[in-house]
Amino acid sequence: MRWLTGWPQPCAVCRRWQADRVCADCLACFARPVHRCLRCAMPLAAETPICGACLRQPPSVERTIVALHYRAPWDGLIAGFKFHRRPGLAALLAERLHAAVIAERPPGDCIILPVPLAEARLCERSYNQAWEVARRLARRLHLPADAQTLLRLQNTPHQVGLPRQQRLANVAQAFAVDPLRRTRVAGRHVAVVDDVMTTGATIEGAARTLLQAGAASVQAWVVARAD
Ligand SMILES: [Zn+2]
Ligand SMILES: [Zn+2]
Repeated sequence: MRWLTGWPQPCAVCRRWQADRVCADCLACFARPVHRCLRCAMPLAAETPICGACLRQPPSVERTIVALHYRAPWDGLIAGFKFHRRPGLAALLAERLHAAVIAERPPGDCIILPVPLAEARLCERSYNQAWEVARRLARRLHLPADAQTLLRLQNTPHQVGLPRQQRLANVAQAFAVDPLRRTRVAGRHVAVVDDVMTTGATIEGAARTLLQAGAASVQAWVVARAD
């Protein structure tokens, strides 16, 4: 089935037939804007721009923009998208991320790169869910995107529960910029796109690699964050 905005279709959350991928009632209920740290996107009390952790130890990511909380109903939809390759859900998640990005006024000129999967995982899953969102978002924003510049050399083991320094050490070696495509990032603003952010260590590893390759700045644009 094609997902067309403006034509009757079931809301992805409540299944009520109406005109949008997610109906206005479900957005009002489940996608209320949350005040977050500018750097890491942890929820914060209103009027505090940056959290204590980011003040103490500024991350490599200049700005993190998050569209949704990683909890019901979005966690189920993201799992459906990730493991069952449902393109309608990719369009829905790109649409939510697009709304969050344009609300935050991103840098006018940047290149969009998805967080890559290591080859073994890419073979197993047959597609990179971050790229499915990134390319749709790039089309909406009229920005360049490519899935070949930032490479994943190895998958990092599960990071939850590990101390921060250990997590960062694990991801530091995981990414590389393709030497033949360094000019794609050198001196440019880069937006790294991912579907889910948990500890932030993966994004931090990608950002460090991009800055080392000469990127002017790195933002993270993420569909959902676990808080
Ligand atoms: Zn609904
Ligand atoms: Zn923070």
